[in-house]
Amino acid sequence: MAFDSLSEKLQGVFKNLRSKGRLTEADVKAALKEVKMALLEADVNFKVVKQFTNTVTERAIGSDVMNGLNPGQMVIKIVNEELVNLMGSEVTDITFGTGGAITTIMMVGLQGAGKTTTTAKLAGKVKQKGKKPLLVACDIYRPAAIEQLQINGKKQDVEVFSLGDKEKPVKIAKEAMAYAKKNGFDVVIFDTAGRLHIDEDMMNELAAIKSNIDILNTILVVDAMTGQDAVNVSATFDEKIGIDGVIITKLDGDTRGGAALSIKAVTGKPILYAGMGEKLSDLEQFHPDRMASRILGMGDVLSLIEKAEAEIDKDAAMQLSKKVKKASFDFNDYLTSMEQMKKLGGLSSILGMMPGINSSQLAQIEGAVDDKKLAHIEAIILSMTPAERENPKLLNPSRKHRIAAGAGLDIAEVNRFVKQFEQSKKMMKQMPNMMGKGRRGMRFP
Ligand code: GDP
Repeated sequence: MAFDSLSEKLQGVFKNLRSKGRLTEADVKAALKEVKMALLEADVNFKVVKQFTNTVTERAIGSDVMNGLNPGQMVIKIVNEELVNLMGSEVTDITFGTGGAITTIMMVGLQGAGKTTTTAKLAGKVKQKGKKPLLVACDIYRPAAIEQLQINGKKQDVEVFSLGDKEKPVKIAKEAMAYAKKNGFDVVIFDTAGRLHIDEDMMNELAAIKSNIDILNTILVVDAMTGQDAVNVSATFDEKIGIDGVIITKLDGDTRGGAALSIKAVTGKPILYAGMGEKLSDLEQFHPDRMASRILGMGDVLSLIEKAEAEIDKDAAMQLSKKVKKASFDFNDYLTSMEQMKKLGGLSSILGMMPGINSSQLAQIEGAVDDKKLAHIEAIILSMTPAERENPKLLNPSRKHRIAAGAGLDIAEVNRFVKQFEQSKKMMKQMPNMMGKGRRGMRFP
């Protein structure tokens, strides 16, 4: 499995740190020097390594040790968080078309990267989401590419559209779209031609498809075994035709894994999926946090960290609930509750975990309370003086005008938020018995 050697080295470094009760700045620096070496040996891009170790060193030396952890565990916590950040923090998926639009996906990549195989794997994933995908054979150059796609399509029970190898890819793509519309396909995945190396002709052909078809997702397939080449290829494809995301293949192999750790940092584009074998079911959604845990391989410390974090959240939640009971909830508390929500991955991820909420309800709620609105609320509160945050009654019209100007928002939006806030407080007063039981939870505007 990829990362085995990196994982082993990092675990060695951390074992050493954990055995010490106290850590000096020199201990931390020495440990991070070893982390740096281990990342370089894993073939992580050197600029990325430098940035990574600088950030971790700065954070480790400047931070207080959290309750429940020792200094060594605190350093592991920071390394873990920064590894997750490096790989893009969030899970990213294909963008699906809205309002009945067909979701178009153009698969690009060099020959041998695993593009044709991955195209069929992805069709399987899309099908699992209840969609009806159509595969399109636009690779007219590689002998047997069309046949390979047809065989794999059959295995996945997904139809393959082909005009043979005599027509131009743009024409094939256009006719495929017309066919998809007529026959009720809602996702169209184009398998395009790769070359052994990046060349003008290939890029021009891809650009021609993109300018004739409304492509929603341009997905680059790269081979993890090629290490830094995969990173360079990603950067070049992004520059020439623009990519939306990457699928990294052969992570099951004996690769050092550096590409998976560098692509997001170098290109800014996320890894969506990882190929974990030759079988068509061997495609996994790419989870930066799970990947980081796997690399660190320190289940015990990571669960300790989780517990320590949960304690902090519990403390804050207890305090909030006390305030709610006394109806002394102010804007500072509101800000705290928003921060807690962010820590848990935002509103949508919390709602997504709740049983009984289906995806269309989720989409509706997300539409109503989107992250932009939350950012506006945050801006409003941050534009208040400390006295105003503690005492919402102080908010007279002239103060509200000042706050609106400070937040760069319309006064109406400030008025709306303050009104909602007052209403929620009233509600809290009316139902003191509901609070504190920890079952129904609180509701804020
Ligand atoms: P293309 O030229 O980019 O279309 O590449 P192919 O789809 O033909 O794949 C090239 C080779 O890589 C084939 O032997 C695939 O079975 C293999 N392959 C593709 N993805 C993976 C993967 O995730 N893991 C492993 N081990 N092999 C893979």
